[in-house]
Amino acid sequence: MAATPDPRKRILTGVRPTGALHLGHYVGALENWIRLQREYECFFLIADYQVSDYADDFQRVRDSIFEVALDWLAVGLDPEGSHFLIESGVPEHAELTQWLSWWVPLGMLERNPTLKAEMADLELRHSVPVAFFNYPMMQVANILMPKAHLVPVGEDQLPHIELTREVARRFNRMFERQVFPEPEPLVGRIARLVGTDGDAKMSKSKNNAIFLGDDKETVLLKVRGMYTDPTRLRATDPGHVEGNPVFMYHDAFNPNEDEVNDLKERYVLGKVGDVEVKTKLAAALNAFLDPIRERRSYYEARPDLVREALHAGTSHARTVAQATMAEVRDAMRINYLG
Ligand code: ATP
Ligand code: MG
Repeated sequence: MAATPDPRKRILTGVRPTGALHLGHYVGALENWIRLQREYECFFLIADYQVSDYADDFQRVRDSIFEVALDWLAVGLDPEGSHFLIESGVPEHAELTQWLSWWVPLGMLERNPTLKAEMADLELRHSVPVAFFNYPMMQVANILMPKAHLVPVGEDQLPHIELTREVARRFNRMFERQVFPEPEPLVGRIARLVGTDGDAKMSKSKNNAIFLGDDKETVLLKVRGMYTDPTRLRATDPGHVEGNPVFMYHDAFNPNEDEVNDLKERYVLGKVGDVEVKTKLAAALNAFLDPIRERRSYYEARPDLVREALHAGTSHARTVAQATMAEVRDAMRINYLG
């Protein structure tokens, strides 16, 4: 009996398996995924073809695939109603990337601001691999493969979604059929969460992240070491709340608004010390992370459930990809052998 097709619109989104997930991933992306996972048919992708500068450390990539899936289950993504997939388990992604890359001029990637910034960062440590330069094209293929309508991501990903829309339009125009819908981006509640060091983006490679799997003590230590207002030397100096990462995190993660407002009022007057502000932040973060930790340990003790979710999702995504590729080959008339 053929499976009933899912009538829901589709989401495709993902992360790279280069380490565990952090608070930036949560507010930038995961929160929307959790909220929309029933309304949309979701394809959550682990982008192991896009290993960035970890191509010399595949063990890390391999371990991170499991870590990412564990984090997803821990935050409450449900593999029953959605699909957890490993990108390389659907090699059609590589094929579609190759075809689509022919219709994108080099200049379009060279102008992509996210790619530019990431390459500048990478060049400080590494030469830039050819595959890195082309990773946005692979994201285009990831999104177009299940014909996704919506792509919930952090703000840094917007140029890649714009590229996807452009490629979809070009493909449909060139082959005179509506194969691909133009996907819409959806940015999270906090478009770009700052790092604990005050850097513009919390990032696992910058040593400025609080991870979803961090224990209570680690969270407290990281919060105590957080960058605050550099102009404030004593607790009696009036402080700045605007642009202060400690208060940005309070706003993002502390549900007790009265407490946050009281701390802010006293901070600008020089009537509260950093220790109190930070201790309360650590408590709020730990309360937020507690249920995530609990679910994480449940699945950590049941690794077979994690592997099963990856297995089922990847296999379903492959079926979907094969159907799309059949349409692509038909539109391009590259089905030479029938
Ligand atoms: P890292 O920089 O920590 O390696 P990343 O950006 O490379 O993380 P990706 O796998 O590229 O991780 O991103 C996964 C999703 O999380 C993307 O939608 C990205 O926009 C979002 N994201 C990552 N970091 C942040 C952040 N600090 N604030 C908001 N969203 C973020
Ligand atoms: Mg990224």
